[in-house]
Amino acid sequence: MDHCIFCKIAAKQIPASVVYEDDSFLAFKDINPAAPVHFMIIPKQHVPTLSACNNSHTEMLGKLLALVPQLAAEQGCGVTTDTNGRETGGYKTLINTGPDGGQEVYHLHIHVIGGPRPWHGKQ
Ligand code: 5GP
Ligand code: ZN
Repeated sequence: MDHCIFCKIAAKQIPASVVYEDDSFLAFKDINPAAPVHFMIIPKQHVPTLSACNNSHTEMLGKLLALVPQLAAEQGCGVTTDTNGRETGGYKTLINTGPDGGQEVYHLHIHVIGGPRPWHGKQ
């Protein structure tokens, strides 16, 4: 897509702080982070919004979601167990969808937002 900013990031026409890349997906830090850790994962293929997805997208969506725990751990906000057996760490995942969902960039992306609290912003 010619005018899609995330397609341009995926094509390396616009710089971004990339934290992960494979043949089908790219993850990069949000330019306006809402928390100590804030990155987004996108499919390289242009899909405008979750609302455009259907059964033909299940494999892509599954892979996208399955990348979250791996990349969250790599970025320092994965869920781990402390010496008392309690879970620590963690993050929010967010897919803004459509105008009323607050979607600003019409290329499907999942936000991963975490890091030590307190922090404020998109929740
Ligand atoms: P949403 O569409 O889910 O509301 O959010 C789009 C997100 O993309 C925003 O949090 C915004 O800060 C981020 N963003 C917009 N343009 C750029 C950009 O050029 N580079 C990066 N890294 N993030 C961007
Ligand atoms: Zn795009």
